[in-house]
Amino acid sequence: MTDLLLLPGDGIGPEVTAQVRRVAERLTPDLSIEERAFGGASYDAHGAPLTDETLAAAKAARAVLMGAVGGPQWAGVARDKRPEAGLLALRAGMEVFANLRPALCFGPLADASSLKRELVEGLDLMFVRELTGGIYFGQPRFIEDLPGGGKRAVDTQVYTTAEIERVARVAFELARKRRGKVHSAEKSNVMDSGLLWREVVTDLHRREYADVTLEHILADNAAMQIVKNPKQFDVIVTDNLFGDILSDEAAQLTGSLGMLPSAALGAEGKPGLYEPIHGSAPDIAGQGLANPLAAILSFEMALRWSLARPAEADRLFAAVDKALAAGARTRDLGGSLTTAQMGDAVLAEL
Ligand code: NAD
Repeated sequence: MTDLLLLPGDGIGPEVTAQVRRVAERLTPDLSIEERAFGGASYDAHGAPLTDETLAAAKAARAVLMGAVGGPQWAGVARDKRPEAGLLALRAGMEVFANLRPALCFGPLADASSLKRELVEGLDLMFVRELTGGIYFGQPRFIEDLPGGGKRAVDTQVYTTAEIERVARVAFELARKRRGKVHSAEKSNVMDSGLLWREVVTDLHRREYADVTLEHILADNAAMQIVKNPKQFDVIVTDNLFGDILSDEAAQLTGSLGMLPSAALGAEGKPGLYEPIHGSAPDIAGQGLANPLAAILSFEMALRWSLARPAEADRLFAAVDKALAAGARTRDLGGSLTTAQMGDAVLAEL
């Protein structure tokens, strides 16, 4: 079984995943690594952004790490063959339903935040966003013409007990390995789906996770608290729509797009999909300007959540922190290091 499947993808994807490979070969030389074309690169080579063989390899690996996909050269390709279609097919094929997005603030970068240093320095908040249900997928959805003129648009927010329970379980399990606190955010004051959400989370907590502290918070209050006192949070679990908005809000507390990792997890024992939040950045691709830390921190998450190597994850995290403290900065962070030099800086601290 392959431990880590790398899907470099397009644009800066291959540049940043090359640094992940260097880090992995140094930190965990025993891990087996395989690499496959994905996205536009796969379309060019095989006529499809995600081949059956690559999906099978992803499902058979312990963790999958993707760089980024897409770029202007594939803009004219049929919609179902575009690089982004490959990414959606990969997520669906791997059945990853819980999106983990950390909002992390490294001390050396705290002054780059839009909030005061004391509010964000040391921030380590984890969002668990439900990824495959809710209002983005609920039926019915349509726009219809009204007889007297004008139109009516309908989206449906829908959740089942099983969908809520499985994502809440991920949040409780994560909290156990972190600081033991979960906030569950919904709008149970005005939405039936919010009421069910609260009921199911409360019930699961009572049955299986009483050792974890659970607090319920209305999603609008969560939005305020994230900018008022973000360090009060450990894990926040929420639905697809609120998670989309709140995790972006929290991510922006901590600086550059080039710093933000993510994970998407499925059922226990199934491989996770790890990827930097950023895209393929065609404007800087091929120039050695990309910040590889979002990809390197995505590998740190893979070590922690799929590869059962928490000690190595801690070492990698500390190495990134030390490299930043020593002044290592790519251009997006106001410095002049190349992608490979940032990789060197992390390796030196390892
Ligand atoms: P982008 O994230 O690629 O770039 C936005 C801006 O941030 C650019 O100026 C870019 O230079 C900069 N940037 C991004 N990552 C950086 C890094 N690691 N280091 C330094 N600077 C970085 O978003 P976009 O420009 O809207 O999209 C470009 C392409 O990427 C599109 O084809 C889009 O569809 C695709 N995309 C893919 C993913 C993904 O693969 N998950 C996500 C978003 C966008």
